[in-house]
Amino acid sequence: MKLSVLSEALRNLVRRPSTIRYPVARELTVAPGSRGRHYADLMKCIGCSLCAIDCPANAIAMEKLPQPLKHNPRSQYPVVDYGKCVFCYQCVFVCPVKAYVTSEVFEMADYSIYTSRDLSLATIKSGGE
Ligand code: SF4
Ligand code: SF4
Repeated sequence: MKLSVLSEALRNLVRRPSTIRYPVARELTVAPGSRGRHYADLMKCIGCSLCAIDCPANAIAMEKLPQPLKHNPRSQYPVVDYGKCVFCYQCVFVCPVKAYVTSEVFEMADYSIYTSRDLSLATIKSGGE
């Protein structure tokens, strides 16, 4: 018994680790189609709030648009709080105009990407209607 433990310990000394040194080593891949960071394309969003109403995690807040857009009469858009989001994509499915841009990006432990606000605001084309 003791010998087998000792041999196992010796084997582990030379074995490649089962874990990776994340985030130092970024060798991670995710399965195609994995649900990652998402945000509303404001050139499509009509401000209906359906995504916010349907979100099971209460992770979406409707905010005022910084400029009027003709196709968005309520002048509001959804901001996803990635700290609350459970990435079920219910918001993506329920949107009547398919406004959500989806991705497989899952690394969001950073204050600068805490919400979808900047990503959505960047979709407004200059002189947007
Ligand atoms: S993916 Fe799910 S939890 Fe996240 S914002 Fe959309 S509806 Fe809410
Ligand atoms: S459901 Fe779609 S159109 Fe409605 S507020 Fe959300 S992103 Fe905009």
